[in-house]
Amino acid sequence: MITPQEGRTTVLDGRASAERVRAEVAGQVQALVARTGRRPGLATILVGDDPASQVYVSNKRRACAAVGIRDLHRLLPADIAESEAAAVLDELAADDEVTGILLQLPLPEHLDRRDLLERIPAEKDVDGLTVASAGLLAQGRDGLRPCTPAGVLRLLDDYEIPLRGAEVVVVGRSELVGRPLAQMLLQRDATVTVCHSRTRDLAEVCRRADVVIAAAGVPRLLSASAVRPGAVVVDVGIHREQGGLCGDVDHDAVIDIAGHLTPVPGGVGPMTIAMLLANTVRAARLQFG
Ligand code: NAP
Repeated sequence: MITPQEGRTTVLDGRASAERVRAEVAGQVQALVARTGRRPGLATILVGDDPASQVYVSNKRRACAAVGIRDLHRLLPADIAESEAAAVLDELAADDEVTGILLQLPLPEHLDRRDLLERIPAEKDVDGLTVASAGLLAQGRDGLRPCTPAGVLRLLDDYEIPLRGAEVVVVGRSELVGRPLAQMLLQRDATVTVCHSRTRDLAEVCRRADVVIAAAGVPRLLSASAVRPGAVVVDVGIHREQGGLCGDVDHDAVIDIAGHLTPVPGGVGPMTIAMLLANTVRAARLQFG
């Protein structure tokens, strides 16, 4: 783990930023309850008993409760029929008490993730993963944005990293992270390049960037040769190894080259849940009018 004392690089403290977001959300929830008499409620849906998903969902539920969002969790059996899971989603979609719906992924193999996600109305899609939410983002229209990309932008904003006109390289084009992040950066007037597994000379492309964001899911993919001196390096990757967690960036190699660097853990990770809370209160505000 990188601590703020190391090297000349400024370490972007995701825990501190996430704490600020949580405090803001708690205030917004209070104000919303005072104004409308209604409280935001998040329905997390966990299908089965995958241990990692259990941990993620319980962290999300705890974070919700801490800021005053109602916890409307549903646990569904691993062997649930798709029609039954769909019926639960339809019920939650129609329930006014439920202002946000989060279907925890991955799902058991017999369930169709895309079909089930599409049952979540765009205004309750706090993960920002439905086609409707992706379409709104692609057209630059208002909507709920995926939490990890939103967390990356909030972290950069908290450190006043300028994005307008900046050369930003995003490594990864997944539906969850790289693709929406690239579109959100475009909306912020960055000049965006998206790299993926077929990119020729990845390091050379990354070296051009003022800001390089690694979301490839490959441990230590980016090393010193991929970072221009002074560049901002955001590491979205998380990998569990024997010695602890590591990211998609070789932190030891870039620590004195990057101007700013997100640690793993304690960088983008904490921002993701914080932005889920922000999305949930935003969704409620839109629904309560
Ligand atoms: P993903 O769905 O596996 O997508 C990985 C992307 O990286 C793909 O677009 C892939 O290219 C590209 N890629 C793979 N190998 C590459 C290489 N050698 N060079 C360049 N690009 C390469 O992963 P994801 O869901 O986006 O997640 C990425 C990482 O972020 C993972 O480590 C994940 O655990 C982490 N993550 C963290 C958080 C958080 O809260 N901190 C949240 C979500 C994800 P192709 O499209 O060509 O296959």
